[in-house]
Amino acid sequence: MISHKDLKGVVFDIKRYAIHDGPGIRTTVFLKGCPLSCQWCHNPESILPQPEPAIRFSRCTLCGRCIEVCPENAISKNEDHVRTDFDKCIRCGKCVEVCPASAREIIGKEMSAEEVMAEVRRDILFYDESGGGVTFSGGEPLMQSEFLTAILEKCRNDNIHTAVDTTCYADESLVLEIAEKADLFLCDIKHIDPKKHLQFTGVDNKLILSNIKKLSETAEVIIRIPVIPGFNDDIDNLKATAEWICGLEKPCPVNFLPYNSGGTEKVKRLAHKMRIIVSKRPDDGQLRKSVELYENQFGLKAIIDG
Ligand code: SF4
Ligand code: SF4
Repeated sequence: MISHKDLKGVVFDIKRYAIHDGPGIRTTVFLKGCPLSCQWCHNPESILPQPEPAIRFSRCTLCGRCIEVCPENAISKNEDHVRTDFDKCIRCGKCVEVCPASAREIIGKEMSAEEVMAEVRRDILFYDESGGGVTFSGGEPLMQSEFLTAILEKCRNDNIHTAVDTTCYADESLVLEIAEKADLFLCDIKHIDPKKHLQFTGVDNKLILSNIKKLSETAEVIIRIPVIPGFNDDIDNLKATAEWICGLEKPCPVNFLPYNSGGTEKVKRLAHKMRIIVSKRPDDGQLRKSVELYENQFGLKAIIDG
């Protein structure tokens, strides 16, 4: 049996001093792997569970050194760019080592729970002073549930506040198990209509809504609505979502998250291809109206976050 000491997970980023991932100043740990494929994803490098190769084409000088060292012949070159064959790549990292332009990287690395904790503990002073802590995001952190559990337990031992930023697309039993270990859940409702949800994220929202309902009965939950112009910012969807939240035993506060276009550039660097739609940041006036609607008409606590 693997002890917590040996348990490893795949982490693709750790951001310190985060202020939009829960209360206070936080460290956000991004775990790789996601069961959804949202067309506006701003972290497309999170979707695959395993580490993956990526390249910044603007840095590449077409010197060809990566092609020479690749043991799998996974890299080829044409006139204006090098191409990495995702299926051939074994993620050995040799191309990264030799690239003189720092154009190549492997996104995601294996870390032990203790290694993650060493990063998290660096800012305990800031957490204590600001009422912050650590947030687990992704991707979908519940896809690495054992690893997540190990770190949550360590945080509890160290008296560090924890938040889990989740799609809630996971078995109910797992969600409720994690609920016993974490202090706060940040749960997305991307669209209230199951058909639209399926069309734009690859899954319908039945399981997600059911899990949020269950979670909200026992845990502290903030509902996050990513506002994607043309997809979910219409008044009918906003009202139907608010009505659903009001129907909860304990209606949760709502954070509106304006669309973040970061994914459109990041996706170009990946060897693994996926489609990302390009949208624009929602109008600030419109966002304020959504907050007013939720507060005045539905009596919900709502803010714009980001
Ligand atoms: S990481 Fe992939 S592309 Fe780079 S050298 Fe290794 S096998 Fe080749
Ligand atoms: S080694 Fe770096 S700079 Fe040279 S071709 Fe490969 S990616 Fe481009």
